[in-house]
Amino acid sequence: MRPAPKGWCPTAEQPMASGDGLIVRLRPRYGRLTREAVFSILELSERFGNTMIDVTNRANLQLRGVSEKNDTEILSALYDLALIDPEQEAQPGRNLILAPNWDHGSLGEKLAGEFYDRLAELPPLPSKFGFSIDTEGQRSLQNISADIRLEILDAKTVLIYADGTTAGRTVSRENAVSAMHKLAEWFVQTGGRQAGRMARHLLEQPLPKDWQEVPRSVRHNAPLPPGQNDLGFVVGIPFGQSSASALRDLMNDSAATAIRLTPWRSLLLEGAKAVQTKGFILSPQQHLGQANACSGAPACQAASVETRKVAQILSAKTTKSLHVSGCAKGCAFPKTAEITVRGRDGRYDLILNGAPWDVPHTSALTQNQLIKEIERL
Ligand code: SF4
Repeated sequence: MRPAPKGWCPTAEQPMASGDGLIVRLRPRYGRLTREAVFSILELSERFGNTMIDVTNRANLQLRGVSEKNDTEILSALYDLALIDPEQEAQPGRNLILAPNWDHGSLGEKLAGEFYDRLAELPPLPSKFGFSIDTEGQRSLQNISADIRLEILDAKTVLIYADGTTAGRTVSRENAVSAMHKLAEWFVQTGGRQAGRMARHLLEQPLPKDWQEVPRSVRHNAPLPPGQNDLGFVVGIPFGQSSASALRDLMNDSAATAIRLTPWRSLLLEGAKAVQTKGFILSPQQHLGQANACSGAPACQAASVETRKVAQILSAKTTKSLHVSGCAKGCAFPKTAEITVRGRDGRYDLILNGAPWDVPHTSALTQNQLIKEIERL
């Protein structure tokens, strides 16, 4: 049976229950954490959680497996270490994704700084509502979840547009953040909170023409690939999840001075060179495609099967979207995939075009039988 739908995004103050415990989400400013902050988070994950940490597709960090009795303690530890932003926590919907290749003094950094300084001026927004700032030359965030988007146009102007439209309004750099506020106010004043997200709202409520004057370009939109770049080294996190100990090895091996969270299940390790740490994706060739997998056995007590290794094997055998779930709860991807594999009593159920709680196409397969089934599809 399908789990109850979640109507909000987890935060630190409002963690969400998942199959393996509470999820505590951290949303660092600029998507950046210093080396010291990373080590503090790893310690907290080992002390209060199940040691598993997610990098989400909104460039946030999640501590998993926190028990309810530890909820208050971890929260006060996070506040003591200044790992929670009280202004972001004060109201929902203040989510910003900044293109992670920003440099110190760059336009993206400046606009994000102004955005954070003026958080309190934003109207009350739904918790899943978000903003993106994509002004570092080459665009990268067009396929990332956001409701109000800023993109670079030329040396003097940026384009602001509502998600779900093909055109936007040009504004000067100086007025860009004010324009984000104006569009957010239009959303709220026209009843957008009921819809929850901009694109959904626009199905019922036409956007005024003066917000759609200039067509947006869909060319040159690519994520930061794994490997070396001018700012450091990008490593992919397989399935968007890692153990605290693996991340500690990565920080020690790379000597990174800080990390930036990206929305592509990867980390930019600032100042790092030629990283070799095992268990991470170090080059574009190692990409795992569309595969999702939860932590599975033995990390999660609800699982009776391994998930990650199986997903790695299966992803090499199919180009279809793939989700391997340790049980019917589907924590890693509570949605429909072309191929969903669900663990049950030490065997695997195969579900086609469905979610982990749906009726399987084939049941109780061994790992070898499962691989043969996928090869046949
Ligand atoms: S086995 Fe996977 S899907 Fe099930 S509760 Fe654990 S993490 Fe969630």
